[in-house]
Amino acid sequence: MSPDAARSVSRPRGATDPEIRQRLEHERASRLTQLAAIEEERHEAPRDLMVAQQSAIQRVLTEIEAAFARLERGAYGLCEGCARPVPDERLEILPYARCCVACQRRTV
Ligand SMILES: [Zn+2]
Repeated sequence: MSPDAARSVSRPRGATDPEIRQRLEHERASRLTQLAAIEEERHEAPRDLMVAQQSAIQRVLTEIEAAFARLERGAYGLCEGCARPVPDERLEILPYARCCVACQRRTV
């Protein structure tokens, strides 16, 4: 067994590192596709709307990069608010979630 595999097993999470990585890569790829699509329609859509959409997607991409960084340092899936594990169901829907639902509500 490689050291990486051992690390994944010892972590108390439902999904393994490669699975999480795959989810995040999928999210990133679909956001990049969206950005490309917006870029293609730039002559048809109102400019304000386009800029708003682009910046919303950029924000998500930033979150995805931050999630990759947390994965690297072994902090993925831990809430940044209360340091408790974020429920797997939430991470499945939002793989780049920083916080559990309770903390998210507090900050919004
Ligand atoms: Zn929390």
